Amino acid sequence: MDFLEKVKNAVGSAAQTVGKKSGEVVEFSKIKYAMFEAKGEIKDLKEEIGGAVYDSYKNNTPLDEIVKEKCARIDELTKQIGEYEKQLDNYKSMVKCPQCGKSVKDDYNFCPECGAKLAVDKEAEVGAEQEYYTPPQSEPEPAAEPEIPTEGAAE
Ligand SMILES: [Zn+2]
Repeated sequence: MDFLEKVKNAVGSAAQTVGKKSGEVVEFSKIKYAMFEAKGEIKDLKEEIGGAVYDSYKNNTPLDEIVKEKCARIDELTKQIGEYEKQLDNYKSMVKCPQCGKSVKDDYNFCPECGAKLAVDKEAEVGAEQEYYTPPQSEPEPAAEPEIPTEGAAE
């Protein structure tokens, strides 16, 4: 009956491994979440602007300053999202040093912290396994061979 114990231990050590790099993963998810929030806010603002535009049409009143403010806020958020994207790009190009566990830019061949050789190990990319999974490129369909009429088939 120690099978369950074994499973528990295996799960325990897996959790520890994850824990080691959770610092970066948390940071990564934070940025992702902030980006998600900003996009949601833009969506809401657009709805509000739409409502305000319709109200002004319906009541024959000029569009008020609030609409302008909301538009400016959208600009601000869009800029912010651009910043977040840059930060995420930064994370994408980080690898984990197999020796000391530091996150290092993947264009280094050696770890600046401990000098270990950095194998280009894509598995070690910080939090990138799922976020940036790209499906393997499918082979292009081979061009269909023009059908050659079989000579003498009619005979
Ligand atoms: Zn290192």
